[in-house]
Amino acid sequence: MTDRNEAWFERARRVIPGGVNSPVRAFRSVGGTPRFIRRAQGAYLWDENGTRYIDYVGAWGPAIAGHAHPKIVEAVQRAAADGLSFGAPTALEVEMAERLTALLPSLELVRLVSSGTEATMSAIRLARGYTGRACIVKFEGCYHGHADALLVKAGSGALTFGHPSSAGVPEGAARDTLVLPYNDLAAVEAAFAECGDEIAAVIVEPAAGNMNLVKPRPGFLEGLRALCDRHGAVLIFDEVMTGFRVGLQGMQGRTGIRPDLTTLGKVIGGGMPVAAFGGRREIMECVAPLGPVYQAGTLSGSPVAVAAGLASLELVAQPGFYERLEALTARLVSGLQRAAEEAGVPFAADSLGGMFGLYFAPQVPGSYAEVMACDVERFKRFFHAMLAAGHHFAPSAFEAGFVSAAHTKADIDATVEAAHRAFATLGH
Ligand code: PLP
Repeated sequence: MTDRNEAWFERARRVIPGGVNSPVRAFRSVGGTPRFIRRAQGAYLWDENGTRYIDYVGAWGPAIAGHAHPKIVEAVQRAAADGLSFGAPTALEVEMAERLTALLPSLELVRLVSSGTEATMSAIRLARGYTGRACIVKFEGCYHGHADALLVKAGSGALTFGHPSSAGVPEGAARDTLVLPYNDLAAVEAAFAECGDEIAAVIVEPAAGNMNLVKPRPGFLEGLRALCDRHGAVLIFDEVMTGFRVGLQGMQGRTGIRPDLTTLGKVIGGGMPVAAFGGRREIMECVAPLGPVYQAGTLSGSPVAVAAGLASLELVAQPGFYERLEALTARLVSGLQRAAEEAGVPFAADSLGGMFGLYFAPQVPGSYAEVMACDVERFKRFFHAMLAAGHHFAPSAFEAGFVSAAHTKADIDATVEAAHRAFATLGH
């Protein structure tokens, strides 16, 4: 039989760099042929060969309610019938902003954009405009999209390919980016002690999900809050991944720490291009047209995308949504852990709400350096064994995974069952 995935990949590589429109999709770090997805429904994907997979990538986060959820699809169809984009204000955008500000108390004003990259890029510009300072602090292995100033020692695809800092980023664009180790508060204290009055913002993934899953150590986020307060810097929580993924109020809800600015994406678009940045009124009032910080977008607040996002937010706000999602995710993680133990494979796993991390390491890592010490070769073999058995994990050892509300216990148990067989082939 012709492998249609291979045939499409060959065609794709003739006209698209590496055959993909976002690098991790190319399978470079695990080898082999990416699956070209024809259709998705609930917890499942079907590729161009018609093979079904239980999906733990969830479109890299947005598909928290499951793929093609009927309520989201219906909302999109209804909105599309009224026109695709107007370049003028709409009631839907207002409803979305009202919903976001009601759910996240740290958001007093919020602006919609079309991607997480735009959200973080705009939040940084805003923090600089508000403080009149240039320097920003980010953390090793955290990914905040592909804006120049943030593409320094970044995570996700940047990490996967061993180029955490991109070519094409002029020294000038990255000169004011200070990169510090995640979970190392002493390093942040030292940076503030040295140049606290030059630091405009600290941007952090409040639980890192782009170097696999790395949770903040107790006191780390609290310490960032205190340092920013002391030195007049803006604390930005990049909750593009964790927002509405680890709970209805994201990491700020779980920790009770209130950032000055928050960036959101993924779940708030329900699979369509919606992202946002928002926060304290005084800071957000610096954004154009109220203030001097320019920020704009032809498709910002697109009614079709926002309709999908509103439907997605309605689904996650249903009582018990996160309790069930968290329990399913924990079931997966403990099942995989048990399977690895039985096979004698050094392996650890961790979860947070509906996201999880799998590590070919004796224990759950707490830093970028520890993540880098994981056994990538073993991961590759595990990944391919699982894919061949119909279980779709992220094609990189450095990405978090996602469970959706459409997964059933039977799906999870089938994956654990397959993992037993996969681990058995990996050796001790
Ligand atoms: N910030 C975080 C924490 C992310 O995980 C991502 C994407 O994975 C982004 C920003 C960038 O978002 P986008 O890919 O929508 O530009």
